Amino acid sequence: LNRRLAEFGTTIFAEMSALALRTGSINLGQGFPDTDGPEEVREAAVRALRDGRGNQYPPGPGVPELRTAVAAHQERRYGLSYDPDTEVLVTAGATEAIAAALLALLEPGDEVIAFEPYYDSYAACIAMAGGTRVPVTLRPGEESRDAEAHRRFRLDLDELRAAVTDRTRLLLINTPHNPTGTVLTREELTAIAELAVERDLLVVTDEVYEHLVFDDAEHLPLATFPGMRERTVTIGSAGKTFSFTGWKVGWVTAPSALVTAVRSAKQFLTYVSSGPFQYAVAEALALPDGYFAAFREDMLAKRDLLAAGLTEAGFEVFRPAGTYFITTDIRPLGETDGFAFCRALPERAGVVAIPNAVFYDHREAGAPFVRFAFCKQTTVLEEAVRRLKTLA
Ligand code: PMP
Ligand code: GLN
Repeated sequence: LNRRLAEFGTTIFAEMSALALRTGSINLGQGFPDTDGPEEVREAAVRALRDGRGNQYPPGPGVPELRTAVAAHQERRYGLSYDPDTEVLVTAGATEAIAAALLALLEPGDEVIAFEPYYDSYAACIAMAGGTRVPVTLRPGEESRDAEAHRRFRLDLDELRAAVTDRTRLLLINTPHNPTGTVLTREELTAIAELAVERDLLVVTDEVYEHLVFDDAEHLPLATFPGMRERTVTIGSAGKTFSFTGWKVGWVTAPSALVTAVRSAKQFLTYVSSGPFQYAVAEALALPDGYFAAFREDMLAKRDLLAAGLTEAGFEVFRPAGTYFITTDIRPLGETDGFAFCRALPERAGVVAIPNAVFYDHREAGAPFVRFAFCKQTTVLEEAVRRLKTLA
C-alpha cells in the first residue's frame, strides 16, 4: 500500500459490521437500513433488467431518464435548475462522486477544508488526489432552535474563516452531517457562501441525507445561496433516500464545466454506472411527495425511540436534526475512550456502534463520542435499547 493510503487501513464500517456478524450483535454501526425501499422501485429495476434496458454499457453521463429525473428533483424541491444533458452526472453512489470530484478538481498540494468529524472517504480521497486536508472541528454547543433547548455540534465560523489560506482550493461540506446529525442553518450556510465567494473557492457539498431532516430544521442546498451555483458541485444518492444502499446510484449536479471535469475522472474510475438501477432510480425520484414525507416520519419515530432509550441507558444524546445517526457522549457512563467502548460493546451488551474518533484528525477531540444508526426496524431498536440499559 502506498504512502498516500497507508494511514487508512480497513474502513471502520467494514470492521464493525464484521464484528456484529461474528458476535451475533445488533448492528447499529454501519448506516444501512434493514428494510429495503419501495416495492414499485424494485419492480422498476426488474422491469429494466427484463426489458433489456441498461444491460449493456449505458451512456457515460448516465441514462437520460435518470439525468432528467435528477434535474426535475432539484427544480421541484429547491428551485435549482440544471440542464440534464450538461449539468448532471450519474455516479456509482455518492462515494464515487466524492472521489471523482476531488480527483478532478485538486492539484497536488491544494488544501481542502472539511468539517471534523468527517465521513471517512473524504480523508482518503483528498489523500488519493494529493491534496491536504484541513479539518475544522464541530463542537458541542447549546442550541435553542425550538422550545426544547438541546446541545448540538456547531460550526465555529471564525475558525472556518481562519482555516482558509492561499493554498485553499475547495470547501468540502456535508449537510445534513454524518455522524453528528447537525443540519447547517441558513446563517451558517450564508457565512460559508460569503467566504467561498470572497476567497474564490470551489465547494463540493455532500447532501445525501437531504430528505432526512426533522423537527423545524430545513435542508438548504448550498447551491441556492448567492454566488454559489457557479462554484458548487452538489452530490446526492439513491442509497439513503430510497433505502437501496446496495444499488450504488448517486449523482452530481453542477455547472457544465465542473460536471465535465468530474466526468473526466469518473470515466477512468468506473467508466459508467450500473445500467438497470439507473432506470429504477429515475422512477423513484418521481415518486409523489407522500413517499418522502412518510420516509421522514418513519425515521423521526425511530430517532425518538432510540434517543429516549439511549438517554435512559445513561448516554448523553445529541438529538440529530438530520441523517439517521445519533451521536452520543459516553462520559456519563464513566467511559472516556469510544474505541475501547465500541470494541467491548458486543461482549457487554450485544450491540455494535461506531467510535466517532475515526472521523477526526484530532482523535482526542472525538474520543468520548459514539455513533448509533437508527435506520432499523422498531423491534430491533427496542431490543437494542433493552440491551444497552444493562450497561448502567
Ligand atoms: N456521504 C455520506 C455523508 C454518507 O454517509 C455516505 C454513506 N453512507 C456516502 C456519502 C456514500 O453514499 P453512497 O452509498 O451513495 O456511495
Ligand atoms: N455511510 C454509511 C455510514 O456512515 C456507511 C457506508 C460505508 O460503509 N462506506 O455508516
